[in-house]
Amino acid sequence: MTSLGRPARSAAPRHPVVVAGSAVVRRLARRVLDALLPPRCLACGGGVDEPGRLCAGCWSSLRFLSAPLCRQCGYPFEVEPVAGQGGDLLGEALCAACRRSPPAFDRARAALAYDAASKPLVLRFKHADRTDAAPAFALWMRQAAGELLRECDLVVPVPLHRRRLLRRRYNQAALLAARLARLGGKPHRPLVLQRRRATPSQGRLSRRRRRLNVAGAFAVPPAARPELKGRRVLLVDDVLTTGATLSACARTLKRAGAASVDAVVLARVVRARP
Ligand SMILES: [Zn+2]
Ligand SMILES: [Zn+2]
Repeated sequence: MTSLGRPARSAAPRHPVVVAGSAVVRRLARRVLDALLPPRCLACGGGVDEPGRLCAGCWSSLRFLSAPLCRQCGYPFEVEPVAGQGGDLLGEALCAACRRSPPAFDRARAALAYDAASKPLVLRFKHADRTDAAPAFALWMRQAAGELLRECDLVVPVPLHRRRLLRRRYNQAALLAARLARLGGKPHRPLVLQRRRATPSQGRLSRRRRRLNVAGAFAVPPAARPELKGRRVLLVDDVLTTGATLSACARTLKRAGAASVDAVVLARVVRARP
């Protein structure tokens, strides 16, 4: 199944010598491959020592997000919020957007700011089949998720519609979710949430249009409901722009019985706010 990134495997038992032999062959193949196709930086394509890494230049240009953050959407504050101005306690502040119209998810966190440095990284992962970036991304996302991953009962990727899945061959959110779930020792449940409508790309839409665009786009199949009842879900996606997609997913999951829905993404747009 392409969405799970795992090819079907034959169940026939194999002789230990054959298994050991194939490991040697794999190591040799890897060395030949490295010589022919030296490992390249995940972002700029320049040479690096090991596959799945960034060069020093790209690494230092990335903006990893850390506290102080909006306790709900994870928006990074430039300075510690002051009590009475949206912040009751340090680290317990809500950003203006969350106070104005709270998202349907409980908490969201992002590893990186989505900016000129991280954009090529995300786009290569999404469209250019650089799936070798998934292990590194999952480690960064585990760091960003922290207690959100520790406290969840199951990890669910934001689904792609079947048609888009066929065109792109893999769901980038499911690749990240599978890795992250393994790192956290949590079950990965990619079939709990489905996209029943192919929504036009959110790319150039306004905040309002994005919300309308994804309203009613997601569904929980009846067979998956028992698994959701009273559970804490961690949603996974690659990019958070306005949060409209994550909110639509969270609303659907909660209506189907989820106790809470948190979200973690690889990168989020950070627009300057008044
Ligand atoms: Zn680079
Ligand atoms: Zn917020």
